[in-house]
Amino acid sequence: MRFIDSHAHLDLLPDLPGVLAAASQAGVEQIVTIGVDLESSRAATKLAAAHAQVFASVGLHPHEAEKADESYWRELQTLARQSRPVAIGECGLDFYRDLSPRPAQRAVFARQIALALQLNLPLVVHDRQAHAETAAMLAEHDAGRVGGVLHCFSGDLDLARQVLDLGFSLGITGVITYKNAQALRELVRLVPTERLLIETDCPYLTPDPWRGKPNQPAFVARVCAGLAQALERPLEEVAALTTANARRLFALPQPGEA
Ligand SMILES: [Zn+2]
Repeated sequence: MRFIDSHAHLDLLPDLPGVLAAASQAGVEQIVTIGVDLESSRAATKLAAAHAQVFASVGLHPHEAEKADESYWRELQTLARQSRPVAIGECGLDFYRDLSPRPAQRAVFARQIALALQLNLPLVVHDRQAHAETAAMLAEHDAGRVGGVLHCFSGDLDLARQVLDLGFSLGITGVITYKNAQALRELVRLVPTERLLIETDCPYLTPDPWRGKPNQPAFVARVCAGLAQALERPLEEVAALTTANARRLFALPQPGEA
């Protein structure tokens, strides 16, 4: 079976050679590693240049929004133009932790949507307790032209419908394996299967039964098993489906192709 981890933070993992070997062993053939600020976006593009199976997304997380003065933003934009990432993000709104002021979060989110439209790249969107406004901003700024993924989807059916209407996909993490995630397991059954992606968000959100250990891309196989169980469909089918979905969204090559 083959998998794609559509959202990892490889720069945060110790023993990268070991982690990449374990991923290959588990059938994870491609990994999208995600920038959250200038430094981690640079790290992501370097990892993508160094490893054929790794692809980068360049962006600024809402937690880091306050960092983005004009020169910071210019450097991020230059990196996004020059390093040929597969997506822009993660970007979005986080009204749960509110680590940056909301006006700054909105401003850098809007700028990254505009950048994605200019570069014709999909968006990797972070939304935590900002469902209505995230959906409204995506619609208002015409993000449906490029689409993307609401990573670690945590919204309700209403939000799912709004972003699905805009052409977005939903990223499913190890949360789907957690005992208290019954609502998510019910929600995924109502989502068109071509709009479901799997991701680890490693080193965070380790799936059960390994919760408490650091997460890694190899564990996306377990996320897929959790999703397959929720959908009541064979694992093989859900693996093939989510792999095709991620490859299409991020325009990833077939493994082995340049
Ligand atoms: Zn993330």
